[in-house]
Amino acid sequence: MTLDVAWAVDWVRACARTVAEHRDELVELDRQIGDGDHGENLNRGFRAVVAKLDALDAPPAQIGDVLKLVATTLMSTVGGAAGPLYGTAFLRASRATAVSELDSGGVVALLEAALEGIVVRGKATTGEKTMVDAWTPATEAAVAAADGGAGPADVLAAAARAATDGAQATIPLVATKGRASYLGERSAGHLDPGARSTELLLAAAAQAAA
Ligand code: ADP
Ligand code: MG
Ligand code: MG
Repeated sequence: MTLDVAWAVDWVRACARTVAEHRDELVELDRQIGDGDHGENLNRGFRAVVAKLDALDAPPAQIGDVLKLVATTLMSTVGGAAGPLYGTAFLRASRATAVSELDSGGVVALLEAALEGIVVRGKATTGEKTMVDAWTPATEAAVAAADGGAGPADVLAAAARAATDGAQATIPLVATKGRASYLGERSAGHLDPGARSTELLLAAAAQAAA
């Protein structure tokens, strides 16, 4: 089994839906340890992505074309930290997916490239209470699932489950990157908004593949 361009389009539309549904939750999480704009930033960005998808005459030929559209739109419409971080993630992912179909190895390549983009851009490592704490275990789980012979949908499901666990594990952490780091020890006891949004985006990827 493989994932095609229609999956990529479904994924992106599912991202827009879940971000809209969870907008207020993401705002509230970011209000606790940041400036309260994460939900609105992402919602604005993914609404712009959907508008661009709707305006296309025909679906793009390659999965990477869809992800490139997401990247450029997020970079130009989402401010703050998350815009450039997710923008770079989707840009790197698009370069890793210049194909019309993805098998399990292709899904792993997409996730690894996205994580690499976030790390190159934000210079965070695991344990700093950022979206890296959801993306890293998600990517590791994807590698393990693919190595075990899972198909692409099951690889994404494993990644999404690991992202959920990774996001929950940010709660006790003290932030050392991004706005939340200004709070020092007071950042502990809160779920990182970017880790939560990563969980939502990867759950959308798995749902679109199921
Ligand atoms: P801002 O903090 O500029 O308002 P957002 O609220 O949109 O931006 O995004 C905040 C999220 O960005 C954080 O919850 C965290 O997950 C992520 N983040 C911030 N800085 C970094 C970084 N250097 N590396 C990775 N992720 C980061
Ligand atoms: Mg913010
Ligand atoms: Mg901000």
